[in-house]
Amino acid sequence: MSNRHCDVLILGGGMVGLCIAHQLLDRGISRNITLLDKEPELGLHSSGRNSGVLHAGLYYKPGSLKAQVCVAGARRLRAWVEERQLPINPCGKVIVPPRAELDPQLDLLAKRGLANGAQLELWDEMQLHQLIPEARTASGRALWSPNTAVVKPIKVVQRLQQELQEQGLRILRGQQHWQVQPQAMQLKLQDGSVISYGHLFNCSGLQADRVAHQFGVGRQYSLLPFKGLYWQLKPGCPIQPRANLYPVPDLDVPFLGVHFTPSADQTPLVSIGPTATPAWGRENYRGLQAVEPAMAAANVALLARQYLANRGGFRRYVHEQAFLALPPLLLGAAQQLIPAVRPEHLEISQKVGIRSQLFNHSSQRLEDDFLCLPGPASTHVLNAISPAFTASFALADLIIDGAASQMAMP
Ligand SMILES: Cc1cc2nc3c(=O)[nH]c(=O)nc-3n(C[C@H](O)[C@H](O)[C@H](O)COP(=O)(O)OP(=O)(O)OC[C@H]3O[C@@H](n4cnc5c(N)ncnc54)[C@H](O)[C@@H]3O)c2cc1C
Repeated sequence: MSNRHCDVLILGGGMVGLCIAHQLLDRGISRNITLLDKEPELGLHSSGRNSGVLHAGLYYKPGSLKAQVCVAGARRLRAWVEERQLPINPCGKVIVPPRAELDPQLDLLAKRGLANGAQLELWDEMQLHQLIPEARTASGRALWSPNTAVVKPIKVVQRLQQELQEQGLRILRGQQHWQVQPQAMQLKLQDGSVISYGHLFNCSGLQADRVAHQFGVGRQYSLLPFKGLYWQLKPGCPIQPRANLYPVPDLDVPFLGVHFTPSADQTPLVSIGPTATPAWGRENYRGLQAVEPAMAAANVALLARQYLANRGGFRRYVHEQAFLALPPLLLGAAQQLIPAVRPEHLEISQKVGIRSQLFNHSSQRLEDDFLCLPGPASTHVLNAISPAFTASFALADLIIDGAASQMAMP
């Protein structure tokens, strides 16, 4: 049992927490940093369980935090991955309208993307078929993003962790139970030892709202977990899209729709997903082991109210996305992009993730943008949804800059 002091304490060792540590070290802000995670290994939640797509910045409203950091963040992460020769597939991405009436959304996405600094081209059907012969566009047009790439998320997390430890970052893992005294700027661990800190960053992903509430921060927010299941094309399947293939998304909800993603290491594995189904527990990846009955019941009631009031186009989400975990519906969504896909081409993937989607009880809406709230000697990163993985280096700078006035460094 020993007490210690650190300038900065980071709760949560996903990409956001790790990149904050990286940027604090890199910018010479502090070398006395401790990162604490509840799990025995890092990368067990969203940062190790996502699609690994480095997004090019086309979806986000200009001016939003996502728009501010996605393009620069993607460029930085891609360079970081390439320097280390980690798996990366620079295959690009094409977006197609599954229904003709969605065609004008291509122009909106192109406009947003260009305003955000992304490189984009509007394509006709012939150009689409030169890249992915089996792909379908309902309107004869598609949007091409050459700078979208795919990486292996868990490899990125593991390498970043290793390098940060070599640079002296103290990482405490397996710390399930701790108690914080925000006013005293102290955190007590299960073994009785106490860590005092100058500033704390709450980057605890799927639990970030609960942690924030312990600081009296963000009480109008709670997290709604949405499960992302993946299927994949079976080995030997004759269809092999060479680039990411996405549908035009419903811009009223923060999910991009089921898509085809080639593998980062350019093996023939192509994944299809993720779905966005309400989850019965924040960390209930498989079976029923981590179901949270009270939370699930409250969330079902909340989702039913959203459906009845149809806030933010919620009815459309329920009709088009909420039940895609059912194989026939998933197949239908895949066939909208590639009609030649057959049930015998598909198998379920072992990969599954859960999104830490934030709900604002004051506005009664899902939050669409990243949210960083200040607390006593602390910063709380809520709603670190996609593209937080892509943007993580640039997002970390934004979070640190936002906290700078509050941070009392020696
Ligand atoms: C299915 C899916 C697909 C996605 N696809 C993409 C994509 O293609 N591209 C992209 O850019 N983004 C994607 N995302 C989003 C991306 O994964 C997240 O935005 C990003 O990983 C968030 O990182 P994080 O560090 O905030 O959270 P996490 O990676 O979840 O890390 C949080 C950490 O906090 C720890 N923790 C939790 N509670 C506590 C506590 N009480 N005390 C201490 N530690 C705690 C956890 O153990 C965990 O290690 C996807 C997400 C999902 C779920």
